[in-house]
Amino acid sequence: MTDSRFECIVLGVGGIGSAALYYLARKGVRALGIDRFEPGHDRGSSHGDTRIIRLAYFEHPDYVPLLKKSYLLWSELEETHRNQLLFKSGLLQTGPANGDVIKGIRRSAKLHSLEIEEVDKSDLNDRFPGFQIPDSHSVIFEKDAGFLLVEESIKAFTANAVNLGAQLAVGDSIVSWNQNDRLFSVLTEKNEYVSERLIVSPGAWAPAILPEVDVPFSIVRKPLLWYRTKSQDYSLENGAPAFLIEDGSGIFYGFPQTGGNEMKLAEHTGGTVIDDPFLPDRRLLETDRSSVECFIGSYLPGVTKNCLRHTVCMYTRSPDDHFVIDAIPGTLNGYFAAGLSGHGYKFAAVLGKALADLVVDGKSKEDLDFLRLSRFGKC
Ligand SMILES: Cc1cc2nc3c(=O)[nH]c(=O)nc-3n(C[C@H](O)[C@H](O)[C@H](O)COP(=O)(O)OP(=O)(O)OC[C@H]3O[C@@H](n4cnc5c(N)ncnc54)[C@H](O)[C@@H]3O)c2cc1C
Repeated sequence: MTDSRFECIVLGVGGIGSAALYYLARKGVRALGIDRFEPGHDRGSSHGDTRIIRLAYFEHPDYVPLLKKSYLLWSELEETHRNQLLFKSGLLQTGPANGDVIKGIRRSAKLHSLEIEEVDKSDLNDRFPGFQIPDSHSVIFEKDAGFLLVEESIKAFTANAVNLGAQLAVGDSIVSWNQNDRLFSVLTEKNEYVSERLIVSPGAWAPAILPEVDVPFSIVRKPLLWYRTKSQDYSLENGAPAFLIEDGSGIFYGFPQTGGNEMKLAEHTGGTVIDDPFLPDRRLLETDRSSVECFIGSYLPGVTKNCLRHTVCMYTRSPDDHFVIDAIPGTLNGYFAAGLSGHGYKFAAVLGKALADLVVDGKSKEDLDFLRLSRFGKC
């Protein structure tokens, strides 16, 4: 039976919340994580097997120190787990020299003295067979980039948290929460809980559960598609990298095949804005296939257009596509992480730890100032 009074409650035990719960438990905090679904579920933003991790961050150089810390924390998590969670397959990134990706990578690498390799075009075919990259693209290889197993690492964080004494209430929905006389009351469909501290990590449900944050998040339907390959050039075992390619039609990415002749591909750009995170269209639509298959036709000669399976996930985009992490306005000892904007999972470890430090100690070693609410004129 779950108790009803805690030092800290985590609302939403998905990508970020599972990590926060673990770091709270590691600090010896009596913590409860509440989620509607089982950890590692496929209804939110953290499913579909894998997530890319990279350091020379094209989105903004201020993320780089967080990423350095995240790499360390992912390794620590792996040491507590029986299976590998982080695969440094390397990441091949290509695009026009003046595009967001290549320009952004070079900027972050320069500012933070990061090791990236500008790949000589004459070496491309030998080193990365299976890719057909136009002469007009610049090509950068980041050798320590790669991918994380997403559901498995959420389950690892959650299991570790429970082993350290955290409690879980899954299969229960948070109806409302409020703070009175420093104490948070959390009302769920099945129970009522009380705590001195609160972390809210609600993913695509941010608009419903965090109205006080008042940022116009957009929830975007994002399909992931697995295609049959006809070549072992894409196999992780043979040294194939993950990849991220920008061209005039958008930004596309994919993962090396890890057994079986299938490769996961997706478009980072685009997607349909939806009103209700419970109801994204989970069917595979013709438009999902057409953009990815056009990409296959241009760049991946050894991949067929035989789509074997798919899943639908959601991005929660903030107005500037940067995360929003701050104290919950009007509360004492309440923090939130929202608007991860389709690039947040690689940070789950460092953000979970930072949230635990903020809510318990009132400070974190990480610089999160650039992610605060004040940039939208709110605080
Ligand atoms: C297709 C796709 C590809 C991506 N690729 C990458 C990538 O390559 N690299 C990368 O770093 N990031 C990537 N991302 C982004 C990353 O996966 C997300 O930013 C991150 O996983 C979001 O975690 P979260 O904790 O915010 O949301 P979630 O993991 O969805 O967690 C939110 C949790 O809150 C729970 N919840 C919400 N409201 C309630 C309520 N009222 N009651 C009970 N429970 C509630 C939900 O059930 C859910 O479990 C991708 C995202 C998608 C969708």
